[in-house]
Amino acid sequence: MTGVLYDRVALIGLGLIGSSLAHVIRREKLAKTIAGHARSAETRETARRIGLVDEIHESAAKAVKDADLVILCTPLGAYGKLAEEIGPRLKAGATVSDVGSVKGAVVRDVGPHMPANVHFIPGHPVAGTEQSGPESGFAELFTNRWCILTPLPDSDAAAVARLEKFWRASGSNVEKMNPDHHDMVLAITSHLPHLIAYNIVATAADIEDVTNSEVIKFSAGGFRDFTRIAASDPTMWRDVFLNNKDAVLDTLGRFSEDLSVLQRAIRWGDGETLFNLFTRSREIRRSIIAAGQETAAPDFGRRPDTPSPREAGRGRGPREGAGG
Ligand code: NAP
Repeated sequence: MTGVLYDRVALIGLGLIGSSLAHVIRREKLAKTIAGHARSAETRETARRIGLVDEIHESAAKAVKDADLVILCTPLGAYGKLAEEIGPRLKAGATVSDVGSVKGAVVRDVGPHMPANVHFIPGHPVAGTEQSGPESGFAELFTNRWCILTPLPDSDAAAVARLEKFWRASGSNVEKMNPDHHDMVLAITSHLPHLIAYNIVATAADIEDVTNSEVIKFSAGGFRDFTRIAASDPTMWRDVFLNNKDAVLDTLGRFSEDLSVLQRAIRWGDGETLFNLFTRSREIRRSIIAAGQETAAPDFGRRPDTPSPREAGRGRGPREGAGG
């Protein structure tokens, strides 16, 4: 066990990621006190009822008072205003980080509000589910998942090392990269897959010759796998696309070109092109399983006896999978 790394941690936003952090900080005893803030009275009340954190604050500025580590865990669109609000209240020497799924925009929106005596180190745990809210979190969410830190060129090495230790103690592997590269990598591995899932579900809902009840009835043919991803939080994903515009449009352009190749192969009966591409895809799937980022279990997550991550005490279960 690592033990206390920050005396006081403030979590701004108590949804899936914020509540999962609260659970793992408690489990690993990484802080003496956890303060929390969420926008609505309802979420704050739920957090109080389930004893999620030690202190609940109505204002973000009050929550960050004396905190040694502040983590922004709200949708990206809220970051700028929150940073402006908490900036003047931050403790000298505190570390400010976040969990947002886009990093360039965080540097743009939060950076200008950070005082010089604070360590601002953006981060992104590549772990999630399609659930949201204060009751959706669980301590194992980060187990064996990657957390990407995007320190700035002038970030203090000791503060970065401490934050890295924090994520490792939470079960994550840690990698560092620059914010723009992060946004390119996530555009193809996360953002584009979500866009495609949202789109295919919309197409199925609008198609005239097949009824919605048929789409639902025969969804095991593949459609249901997209619906799980497309059930992710609309606010969060709206903000991801608005804040990673260039990288998403770039990868979407490549995707559309490649889709045209498939379209052409189908039209001209070019089985070899189809077969070769499908074979390559299978190999990528095998590499993901070999890297421990997925299981090879058939029909994953659809049997009623499959334990949840909380029950299994491990990082995979029926509720995990989609994440930003
Ligand atoms: P979530 O479950 O929807 O929770 C969002 C939390 O932020 C709620 O507590 C919400 O409070 C609070 N909030 C929203 N707007 C706020 C504001 N203006 N001021 C203060 N609090 C506000 O979201 P999440 O899934 O945890 O995602 C949070 C962040 O994690 C996002 O930036 C996302 O990009 C990133 N992320 C998500 C995943 C994933 O799979 N979900 C994975 C990795 C990273 P109320 O409930 O009161 O509205």
